[in-house]
Amino acid sequence: MTREREMNRRGFLGRLGITAASLPAAMVVGRIGGDEVLAAPEEYGGFLVRRSPEGEPPYQVDENVYQRFDQRNETFSREMWDPKVIESEAPFDGVEEENIRTNKEGFTRLDYAFMSAAWTIAGAFGSGAGAIGGSNGGLYSWQPLGGPGMDGMPPWDASDWTPEEVALIVKKAALFFGASLSGIAELDERWIYSHRFTKDFSDPPEIYAPILIEDVESPEEREDGTLVIPKSMRNVVVLAFEMDFDAIATYPGGPGAAATGNGYSRMTFTAACLAEFIRGLGYQAIPCGNCTGLSIPMAIDAGLGELGRLGLLITPRYGPRVRLAKVITDMPLLPDRPISFGVTEFCDACGRCAEDCPGEAISAGDRTYEPNDISNNRGINRWPVNHPRCHLVWSQTGLDCANCIRVCPFNKPEGWLHDATRALIGANSLTMDQVMLKLDEASGYGEQQDSRRYWRKDRYVHIKD
Ligand code: SF4
Ligand code: SF4
Repeated sequence: MTREREMNRRGFLGRLGITAASLPAAMVVGRIGGDEVLAAPEEYGGFLVRRSPEGEPPYQVDENVYQRFDQRNETFSREMWDPKVIESEAPFDGVEEENIRTNKEGFTRLDYAFMSAAWTIAGAFGSGAGAIGGSNGGLYSWQPLGGPGMDGMPPWDASDWTPEEVALIVKKAALFFGASLSGIAELDERWIYSHRFTKDFSDPPEIYAPILIEDVESPEEREDGTLVIPKSMRNVVVLAFEMDFDAIATYPGGPGAAATGNGYSRMTFTAACLAEFIRGLGYQAIPCGNCTGLSIPMAIDAGLGELGRLGLLITPRYGPRVRLAKVITDMPLLPDRPISFGVTEFCDACGRCAEDCPGEAISAGDRTYEPNDISNNRGINRWPVNHPRCHLVWSQTGLDCANCIRVCPFNKPEGWLHDATRALIGANSLTMDQVMLKLDEASGYGEQQDSRRYWRKDRYVHIKD
């Protein structure tokens, strides 16, 4: 490499805000069996993380049973067609207005205004329901949205860059555009929905059509609504967005719901910007919120975390307090490898989310391959969540719930004082896990905070008086 090229590279990294000091610094600090043990204070919080050199993911799939998930069976989709779900939720129509009228604590005009504002970008530019459910329009467009006039030019020449540097550039761009964490995985077709389902809350028509993966040149949306992902789009960049700790601490209440909406708005903005960045480099990109495929297994494949009992991704740095988006691309990218840091073992000993779930929707038993409802896909070994029961709680209360995220011991604020003990959670020792659970409860983490206090306190509410 010439000195001039080296200088150019440094200059480019500098413009992206990447300095040597801010490069990910995951260090191999030991080995367990064949696995590397990694420490990376920024990326993994205080956890020591295991990573298999073979890239073995920390989940098990029964290939004889597993089928791609049909998005029509997803809870939010069922709210639009399944009589069982519609009828169970119907009695609670209008509960929001009643909450506001009676100034119910945590469900006041202030809370609803805050929540509603947080959804602005997702609602206006993420095709409304598409941010939650099915559509692929607005900023989640499968086609380029404009760009700086580089159409027809050959792709960016990355021959001067190592594969590690190219992957780093894309992940750093994701952080620049607003993600809290980013990782790369090879796209596993099993996680792409078999069908898409779109039905806007306010403005039908409904679209229910297959998602195909075929030998085509570019992403297609056919007249009947069928989506086609080119086989060449073999990678996915997965994005995680931290939700505000103090707002989540108020669940079930307004600031918590605002943290969720804010996550969806940031997902919309960031996925769209990252897709445009990749398109500007001459590659194809499909930005996705919850649409197109299952975000959680993609995030696990991309090394962002593990699946917890509560049915969500648990990341080392933010626990389950994240929302997820992804960008599918044909850009050649070096994938990350899955990690584990003791989540499965800790969840076996814990069960706090199941105890504190107002809908009794979280399994208190062992993991199983069996679904309990059509909203679970078959053939994955996990704790199945009863999604209609969960969603019924949302309807009954008039705002979304995330008690399970609030109480999870992996949910901790930035700069948590007990980083050292946090590392111990990952030590995979049952005795240590139980000690940690007691310590966590004694320190008051996970207790619901008063929504008014969220606004009135001039310091973080997680600091216990
Ligand atoms: S969001 Fe609330 S109702 Fe749903 S699983 Fe979590 S705790 Fe239970
Ligand atoms: S609350 Fe406990 S059991 Fe539930 S996801 Fe968190 S660690 Fe696992």
